[in-house]
Amino acid sequence: MVVGRLAPTPSGHLHLGNACAFAAAWLSARARAGRVLLRIEDIDRERSRAEVEQGQRRDLAWLGLDWDEETPRQSERDYDDALARLGARGMTYFCQCTRADLRRSGGVYPGTCRDRGLAEGALRFRLDDAQQVLVRDRRFGERSERPASFGDPVLRRRDGTISYNLAVVVDDIRDGVTEVVRGADLLGFTSVQIVLWRALDAPEPTWMHAPLVLGPADAAGARSKLSKSHGSMHLAAMRDAGWQPADVWRLVLPWIGVPNTDSLGDAIAKFAADGGSAARGFDPQRGPRGPIELDYDQSVACPAPGSVVWRTSA
Ligand SMILES: [Zn+2]
Repeated sequence: MVVGRLAPTPSGHLHLGNACAFAAAWLSARARAGRVLLRIEDIDRERSRAEVEQGQRRDLAWLGLDWDEETPRQSERDYDDALARLGARGMTYFCQCTRADLRRSGGVYPGTCRDRGLAEGALRFRLDDAQQVLVRDRRFGERSERPASFGDPVLRRRDGTISYNLAVVVDDIRDGVTEVVRGADLLGFTSVQIVLWRALDAPEPTWMHAPLVLGPADAAGARSKLSKSHGSMHLAAMRDAGWQPADVWRLVLPWIGVPNTDSLGDAIAKFAADGGSAARGFDPQRGPRGPIELDYDQSVACPAPGSVVWRTSA
């Protein structure tokens, strides 16, 4: 059975990019009569806020994104066992490089401490320099990546906090997740996560990356990923400004290949009518690969439904 998950991070309001990725995860599981889990990804306790989480739950309910089971939140979980297993296989090492050291090496960690035999510091995952990994994505197709090109990732920081990169893999394995759906900004790093899945002896999930959603161009013509900085365009503000769930879905669902649809239930019904079964009806490759470029009037508190337009070059 397909097991998908919605995994919000309670550090910022949900926006249209999150709605798109969550819809892809939900539809992909539901179209195959699969299960949907909810997991609160609050591994970064400093940035996680209870009131933001409550707001996110309201947003999910409003949009009709439901789940079968809520699994333990990250802040309640233990990752020592996974670290011990990786350590026993010689796949981890301590690193004492400073931020300044990392800046000097241009952002990608060059493996400075790999063979220093240090007894404390941040714990890093040892990647194989020569290894190529085939990433199969349901939207973006197949690509060969060299995980080591990202540098050995930190699994546990010097202050003892667990990195998101480790937590998300350990959680997905423990929760029995079979399909990981998330934003395309994480596509490249998937190869590193695949190596972690394998190192923990788990069968690799299927992957699907929803298109990146970019806000309007700034004065210099540059667009950035939709985020908190595009303040008026988060779901709660849109709801307050009179948007209905149907307005959100008519805008967002075409980005994952589901046009002219104004609810998730309607989408499932249409898949069944189109493909003979809902499972065959949801084909994420029908949508643009993105990124999705949004344009709307930024001088108003929140643009009206129908005044937000989008385009994509791919
Ligand atoms: Zn180091």
